[in-house]
Amino acid sequence: MIFLDAAATTPVRREVIEAMFPFLTNQFGNPSSHHGLGEAAASALSAARETAAGVLGCHAGELIFTSGGTEADNLALKGIALARRAADPRRNRVVISAIEHPAIADSADYLRRIHGFTVEVVPVGPDALVDAAGFARVLDGASSRDGGPFQGNRDDAADLPGAAGAAWAGAPGCDVAVASIMYANNEVGAVQDIPALAAEARRRGIPFHTDAVQAAGWLDLDVGRLGVDAMAISGHKLGAPKGAGLLYVRGGVVLEPLIHGGGQERGARSGTENVAFAVALATALQFSEAGRGAAVEHVTALRDGFINQVLERVPGARLTGHPSRRLPSVASFCFPGTSGESVLLELERRSIICSSGSACAAGSDEPSEVLTAMGVDRAVAQTALRFSFGADVTADALDTAADELAAAVERIVRLGV
Ligand code: PLP
Repeated sequence: MIFLDAAATTPVRREVIEAMFPFLTNQFGNPSSHHGLGEAAASALSAARETAAGVLGCHAGELIFTSGGTEADNLALKGIALARRAADPRRNRVVISAIEHPAIADSADYLRRIHGFTVEVVPVGPDALVDAAGFARVLDGASSRDGGPFQGNRDDAADLPGAAGAAWAGAPGCDVAVASIMYANNEVGAVQDIPALAAEARRRGIPFHTDAVQAAGWLDLDVGRLGVDAMAISGHKLGAPKGAGLLYVRGGVVLEPLIHGGGQERGARSGTENVAFAVALATALQFSEAGRGAAVEHVTALRDGFINQVLERVPGARLTGHPSRRLPSVASFCFPGTSGESVLLELERRSIICSSGSACAAGSDEPSEVLTAMGVDRAVAQTALRFSFGADVTADALDTAADELAAAVERIVRLGV
């Protein structure tokens, strides 16, 4: 089998299993317990937090371990929006892009339906990129109508260059509770210019979250260089188990917890900590960061070779997403005249495993919202396939995959299924 669905999930790395194993067996303490076993668990948790903070370039106290990328995204968007509106009821807008994962898009919809926020969606171009000027225009949207004696939009507003508290009164964007634009898209691999987008939000004192679930392992995760206020990571895309996640929240950004209870994770996320998974995620992050440079170089070259082969050999094949501003690990196409699902099954028969759109949308008859937001015709969007690679992908595997893909598309077109 040739597994080309690494964006859906990855196997757990051996080093990660070894690192987490003690915390599932003899070192099984509860980090809140006041005895040796509990203290050992607490110190493993704090070491894991320090390790992850080292990769993200933040303070350990700015990290919250979660049950995965979905929870981290939910906590960032809902937690920040609810806390900021509680502090000032005029902060009633939430801004996201048109190609967010459902963890963000559906959280925004929840904020709209249940809490009465206005959700504004920033469009993307045909290459799936968000334009920073367009983003800025959406941020500024209703704000000029707002005015009023607004005292700073951000809890650390006084720290922002030239932004001493009252200077923000009626400032553009001051009614935005939170903005969220994903770092790398899960269906077409397009990589956004997060430093430029985050700077637009920061200039207006708006907290900026990014969903870095697909970016982790491939792109720079340093939150200082990115300029983000919150960032979500998921373990299972990196060689840690499914159900392990992490949310970075910059110190000073207020967050309303979504899960209440014993006050773990400094009150931001109650529930006995999953020490083994925190250790696993930190270990996976450390290994993927250490190998990132070499992996990017190796996989980018193979990806481009694969894309070229597919475009040359499969009549009508179209690359989706920006040709170069894309994850090293993702090659995504539409094959007009086929059905993505039929080609997927034909490829599986030939031992090539890939995905039609994202794993979350798989099985649904609706065309991908990401592709339709990019302006791809609905019928063409139904023909999408995504091939995503792990760092260990080989040239031989991709040559075989290109051969089988050309044969599979030819067969599906010939049979008309
Ligand atoms: N965000 C993106 C971009 C994703 O691709 C995924 C999962 O595929 C998630 C969020 C959700 O992460 P998790 O599976 O850890 O809940």
